[in-house]
Amino acid sequence: MRLSEYFLPVSKENPREAEIVSHRLMLRAGMISQMSSGIFAWLPLGLRVLDKIANIVREEQNRAGAVELLMPTLQSADLWKKSGRYDAYGKEMLRIKDRHDREMLYGPTNEEMVTQIAAAGLKSYKDLPLNLYHIQWKFRDEVRPRFGVMRGREFLMKDAYSFDLTEEEGMKSFNRMFVAYLRTYKRMGLTAIPMRAETGPIGGEASYEFIVLAKTGESEVYCHSDYLEMETPPEDVDYKADLTPIIEQWTSKYAATEDVHDEAEFAKVPDDKKITARGIEVGQVFFFGTKYSEPMDAYVQGPDGEKIFLQSGSYGVGVSRLLGAIIEACHDDDGIIWPKEVAPYYVGLINLKSGDEACDAACESLYEELSDAGIEVLYDDTSERAGGKFGRMDLIGLPWQLVVGPRGLKDGTVELKNRATGEKQSLSTEAAITKICTE
Ligand code: ATP
Ligand code: MG
Repeated sequence: MRLSEYFLPVSKENPREAEIVSHRLMLRAGMISQMSSGIFAWLPLGLRVLDKIANIVREEQNRAGAVELLMPTLQSADLWKKSGRYDAYGKEMLRIKDRHDREMLYGPTNEEMVTQIAAAGLKSYKDLPLNLYHIQWKFRDEVRPRFGVMRGREFLMKDAYSFDLTEEEGMKSFNRMFVAYLRTYKRMGLTAIPMRAETGPIGGEASYEFIVLAKTGESEVYCHSDYLEMETPPEDVDYKADLTPIIEQWTSKYAATEDVHDEAEFAKVPDDKKITARGIEVGQVFFFGTKYSEPMDAYVQGPDGEKIFLQSGSYGVGVSRLLGAIIEACHDDDGIIWPKEVAPYYVGLINLKSGDEACDAACESLYEELSDAGIEVLYDDTSERAGGKFGRMDLIGLPWQLVVGPRGLKDGTVELKNRATGEKQSLSTEAAITKICTE
């Protein structure tokens, strides 16, 4: 992408409304723009990261055997009256009436709807297990939207829902999602620790929140420091195998959110291993058995034709919140430092003297070669001053900066800067391309 043809409204000013660094940087880097309280427009650069995060989530869900569909944002109130949650959900639910005076709502979550869909399509116990997910906008009329996309009112969530015949099979589905979550966050450069959690309005028995430790997190959490060093399940993890050893490894040490925190249990953790910190909830998994299937009459026929209510769990990832969480974990004074897998572009190509024949030609050929090699390049071909170009590139945080100027070109070199380490190297254009393509 050529910057001269792009839309990247960066700003030097610190927006006054932004209390935390990720919110500040997302606004300054031209990634989002607030449309009303807790509701954002995703500008081109922000949208690219959002899509990358959603894609990692999608790949890991698919790998774990979940099947993607897409449910609507607007739901009928009748559905929620069946489960009894229409009144229980309270003011966080945005309620709407259509022209026929029918009660509708903007979905805050989808347990009811997906249960109805599954029940209509599932006939026999032989159709199980099934896990359906979608990546869709949700609306919750939060009392206090804040911290930008971290606590919005409209936000993007991945929510998966498992359906099984028995509780035992249901727990296997739960375990598959648990393992998929560990992998999902790791791929984004985050260490998310599964912590025992309260089940809240979703309800159920087993629940873990996946928490990224961060000073600006909204939850108070307590955990064993070994979790920070634990090995993430590999890409080729066998989801058909028994996953309990992995689950045990990731749940046997102490880790709890403040709602379920137990001082006496925590006291057993050696002092030098105790972590008391703040954390960001980037996902939550629940197992709730027949909590929705019974009131909604969602069942399959068992081997003897008997009616068996579906055993279910639900599994959410805060896709849009993750942008904030990643920036909280990856930034410095100059701006964002994107982990490779979620970076909006991989390389920022800076032409220090646009209009200069040699610089333009060198940049054009680098742009072409890198693009042909499948590398995503943002080419700053504008006529701004060098200082402004450097500042903007640091702010938007692409992993590599490739700087082309007249002086270097005379000796046949360009400068390659690693945004994370700050390390700069003078290289021939070929060497720079090789380094970018192989690291
Ligand atoms: P919280 O406790 O932060 O309000 P929650 O427990 O109500 O979240 P869940 O129902 O577990 O949320 O939703 C799944 C995921 O969606 C959460 O783990 C979180 O990452 C994300 N999420 C929830 N509410 C918001 C919000 N208002 N803005 C952005 N992301 C959110
Ligand atoms: Mg939650």
